[in-house]
Amino acid sequence: APEPRADKPGLLQRLAGRAGKPVVRRALDDDMLEQLEELLIASDMGVDTALRVTANIAEGRFGKQLSTQEIKRLLADEIARVMEPVARPLPIYPKTPQVVLVVGVNGSGKTTTIGKLASQFRAAGKSVVIAAGDTFRAAAVEQLQIWGDRAGVPVLTAPEGSDPASLAFDAMTKAQAEGADLLLIDTAGRLQNRADLMEELAKIVRVIRKKDPEAPHNTLLVLDATTGQNALSQVETFQKLANVSGLVMTKLDGTAKGGVLVALADRFGLPIHAIGVGEKIDDLAPFDPEEFAAALTG
Ligand code: GDP
Repeated sequence: APEPRADKPGLLQRLAGRAGKPVVRRALDDDMLEQLEELLIASDMGVDTALRVTANIAEGRFGKQLSTQEIKRLLADEIARVMEPVARPLPIYPKTPQVVLVVGVNGSGKTTTIGKLASQFRAAGKSVVIAAGDTFRAAAVEQLQIWGDRAGVPVLTAPEGSDPASLAFDAMTKAQAEGADLLLIDTAGRLQNRADLMEELAKIVRVIRKKDPEAPHNTLLVLDATTGQNALSQVETFQKLANVSGLVMTKLDGTAKGGVLVALADRFGLPIHAIGVGEKIDDLAPFDPEEFAAALTG
């Protein structure tokens, strides 16, 4: 889980620092609220969400004398409240194979997340198949094979430059024939040509539906938390390209920009199925709103 880093003081320390003393009672007045807003915006929460969060804290308490501890508590509670509805693990479908399409820009952590997910499902006794659907990036296919080996999961590949939809169809056929529980399909993340990418994703969906009309059961968008507010526009873009059903937020280890998760929850309400907290195979954790709020408010 994300921990506040020693070199990056949490909100509380910064608040106390501004006030001059570690523990001090202060009025929850306009000045105080403005400071809170600034601190939240600095955590990449975005202006709209920061204003809403502080307004909720002020409601019924404006002008009251509060200690920085109490203010931190209110802030953490409010953030946890916003995050509670989106903290949901990946829903498991009764029908197998459950097909999970994984989308996101290159570098967001798609490959790593697929490896981590495969490993978690394997550890839970499930059989998993991975399709290396980013057929244009030889390096991505290689990486995925390494992750598949680590997780003990077969990775289906196709020659460089070949049709990802045809690979996805073969993977569906294999997963069904073998009675696999889960099929994870990697996809390209080239946003340079959106029309192409949209057609590519649509074609993958079309062909896998020939094998199961309800597939994909989940479309996971992988987002890099360190990109801050950029993550918001990535959600908007991918919602146009694919039917995004949930998020995985990567690189939450050691970022001070975690506030963007609050903005995402506030704006889109998409479930956060898991968070990436490191580069190793076990570094994928369920999203815990209270732990997150505590880490963010430091
Ligand atoms: P892809 O291009 O979307 O497939 O991204 P990759 O899975 O190759 O990841 C890009 C880089 O981010 C790699 O160096 C990964 O090790 C790193 N990465 C992925 N997830 C995490 C995470 O949760 N924490 C950290 N610290 N690094 C991550």
